[in-house]
Amino acid sequence: MATKNVEKIIAPATPHYVGDGFRVHNFIPGNEQRLSMQRMSPFIMLDYNSKFYFPPSKTPRGVGVHPHRGFETVTIAYKGKVAHHDSGGGGGVISEGDVQWMTAASGVLHKEYHEEVFSRKGGDFQVVQLWVNLPAKDKMSQPKYQAIENKNIHRYHVENNGGEIEVIAGQYKDVKGSATTFTPLHLFNAKLNKGAKTSFSFPENYNTALLVIEGNIIINAAEKVATDHLALFENKGESFTIEATENAFVLILSGEPIHETIAAHGPFVMNTQAEILQAFNDYNQGKFGYLED
Ligand code: MN
Repeated sequence: MATKNVEKIIAPATPHYVGDGFRVHNFIPGNEQRLSMQRMSPFIMLDYNSKFYFPPSKTPRGVGVHPHRGFETVTIAYKGKVAHHDSGGGGGVISEGDVQWMTAASGVLHKEYHEEVFSRKGGDFQVVQLWVNLPAKDKMSQPKYQAIENKNIHRYHVENNGGEIEVIAGQYKDVKGSATTFTPLHLFNAKLNKGAKTSFSFPENYNTALLVIEGNIIINAAEKVATDHLALFENKGESFTIEATENAFVLILSGEPIHETIAAHGPFVMNTQAEILQAFNDYNQGKFGYLED
């Protein structure tokens, strides 16, 4: 199999706040240094709250009531805890190592906050939020949640005690992820011990990137990628290797692009401008339900 090379390594952009609880570096989409929605489709947004200490607070920090339509939000908690509530009466806590896969689809109204006990104590907070686009035929489907607790994530054990690959979605070697997706994609957390080396293989046309959450790695024995940096791969070749030069934690994403037009505005990602207007109208008419602030 041909080697898949790194196209570029992207340093974290200046962080900004989403609400008052998420201090994020945006990697997708954004300016030309970062990645467009089309280039990384089906992954259309990646906000990364790199490890950051939040002091104790009596009022949980976070982001108030807001809608989503047309895609899925995937929240991965590495440090700290995120609580969420939605207009359908759903809610829960995403603890360290857990993943929440929320299919907003036809529409969800929710709020996302630091969990209460975490808030009161304060502590390190490190979270990724990824938006996964839906194909036109599924954009108005029924909203749903997949709450994936860390203990239920399927794992591949790397040879020679090298660590483990948590398969959130898709497949790594013979291990399948438990999350169901609308289009083919792979999402892994690779926890590699110092010196461990492992390989990955994805179809050439899949858009592929990795984000180093912790530690340092070398890709294809050539490209060093440091903590909090993202490596984008070329759409050529299939296989690459990662070597952990110290204990490392790496988020790996690869997915088949959705070749449809994208009309995006704030919390709505549809195919046409008319559908965006419809989303605003539906939201203003209360069709997303009601949720107290
Ligand atoms: Mn949200």
